[in-house]
Amino acid sequence: MIRTPQEIAKMRKAGKVVAEMHEATRLAVKPGVSTLDLDKVARNVLEKRGARSNFLNYHGFPAVICTSPNSMIVHGIPGDYILQEGDIISIDCGAIVEGYHGDAAYTMGVGNISPEAEKLIEVTERSLYAGIEKMQPGNRLHEIGRAVQKVAESAGYGIVREYVGHAIGTAMHEEPQVPNYWPGNGGPKLKVGNVFAVEPMLNIGGDKTKVLSDGWSVVTLDGSLSAHFEHTIAISENGPEILTIP
Ligand code: MG
Ligand code: MG
Repeated sequence: MIRTPQEIAKMRKAGKVVAEMHEATRLAVKPGVSTLDLDKVARNVLEKRGARSNFLNYHGFPAVICTSPNSMIVHGIPGDYILQEGDIISIDCGAIVEGYHGDAAYTMGVGNISPEAEKLIEVTERSLYAGIEKMQPGNRLHEIGRAVQKVAESAGYGIVREYVGHAIGTAMHEEPQVPNYWPGNGGPKLKVGNVFAVEPMLNIGGDKTKVLSDGWSVVTLDGSLSAHFEHTIAISENGPEILTIP
């Protein structure tokens, strides 16, 4: 899908709200805080900015953010889990402004964390930016995943395959998908006006996942730590424009 400059302008607004949700939740993350508290912080941002949530009621999802601690990869439901010193927490946020969507995620430590956890977070974020660098008009879509994979594999991490990035616009999840690995072909050519959410999920251990009995929470099968970084990015004539920044 090619988005017009007017549509991209609306997605920029949605992206700024998502960035503000990141800032507010980052400030709130500390030992003793519940994941439901973080959802309230994010709701306040949506309310203040007059934005709608794209997560709330998505296939029945009950919150405006996903909170996924430690070995949880994605889609954790905010609730009574209390953050502990040494945890890592992945927070995925989304917003709709004037009918256009933004979607972005980050992982951070709670207080002091282990060097292994620190490295996982650093490498996962770096893999996202390696992917973003490939978002030049004329490049092939799957070069993004190839770049993510190179960074992840150099650290020996598992790359989650069941959950991937996606095009985004008037819906949160549009076609095509954006894998975080080389799927064996280049995929479609990137064009000015394309907008994608790129979102590597890396595990210290293997790449296998399972869904918990709540029907949402995805965890690593081997119990290893997992991190998740995501931005919504438009392809412009000058290359990638990250929309989910302040
Ligand atoms: Mg997301
Ligand atoms: Mg996404």
